[in-house]
Amino acid sequence: MAILADPERTQKSGEGLMETLTSPERMRALAREFRAQGERIGYVPTMGALHEGHLSLIRRSKQLATRTVVSLFVNPTQFGPSEDFRKYPRNPERDAELARLAGADVLYAPRVGDVYPPGYRTYVAVEGLGTTLEGASRPGHFRGVATVVVKLLNRVAPHVALFGQKDAQQAILIKKLVRDLEVDLEIEVCPTVREEDGLAMSSRNAYLTPEQRRAAPVLYRALKRAESAVVREKERRAERIVDLIRETVAAEPYVSLDYAEVVDAGTLAPLERIEGSVLIPIAARVGATRLIDNVILKVEE
Ligand code: AMP
Repeated sequence: MAILADPERTQKSGEGLMETLTSPERMRALAREFRAQGERIGYVPTMGALHEGHLSLIRRSKQLATRTVVSLFVNPTQFGPSEDFRKYPRNPERDAELARLAGADVLYAPRVGDVYPPGYRTYVAVEGLGTTLEGASRPGHFRGVATVVVKLLNRVAPHVALFGQKDAQQAILIKKLVRDLEVDLEIEVCPTVREEDGLAMSSRNAYLTPEQRRAAPVLYRALKRAESAVVREKERRAERIVDLIRETVAAEPYVSLDYAEVVDAGTLAPLERIEGSVLIPIAARVGATRLIDNVILKVEE
């Protein structure tokens, strides 16, 4: 089990005064106040059910900014009709405590009806990047993500927003969105935090039965096997890497691979040859639970 917060840091930085807001108007007013006082705002958007992956983003924000805002919002527009919006794990009291202990200054938890009031009609699409990989398996998902991220950024007005490498396609898409729409902020992408056995931390890991939980690290092992083939054995054929991942995952009966691909880490374009900055994203079903993971490799020759 991972340690959820580092009490020493909590003591040293004197956390404890975290303001919790639900009002979008109040969030904007507070962001204006911070900016008027010359504070640098760091922002960590989350859907709650906080774990060490989220907390690592909060801690990194504290290194990059003088005020850290964390949002908790389970965004209905990024869930498909048959997905887990209703049963997505929610524990706002626990989340507030963890965010406070990690050093957040503000917790922004807007209500669905305030973010999407009756008659809401505007959505953001990042063409090309939102319809492959996760976007192909989850139609409409990235339209919901891009839309809510723009809306939250407009309220929080951060200088820097932090995202996890775990959701690599999301991070690439948000970087592109920020560039294309000329949003004035920096994006920081932070490394994937893993359990001791390599399983990427995820709020959805809570859905796994003990047997499924024991099987799930096969995804990490498959990625490590792919990495080793590229780095040590100098395998450069993307097809061969995908085969290795398939073979590894197939040996685990509780896990069924949805996709494994080899793509350019900037554009998500599929690659035949492994060269440059390469993203290998995978997705799988473990029972009814869908898990994703990835690795990025820099290959010079
Ligand atoms: P979520 O609550 O799943 O929307 O995630 C909120 C943010 O935390 C996103 O930027 C995720 O990429 C990031 N995140 C989720 N899991 C991890 C992890 N295991 N390591 C690092 N960042 C993560």
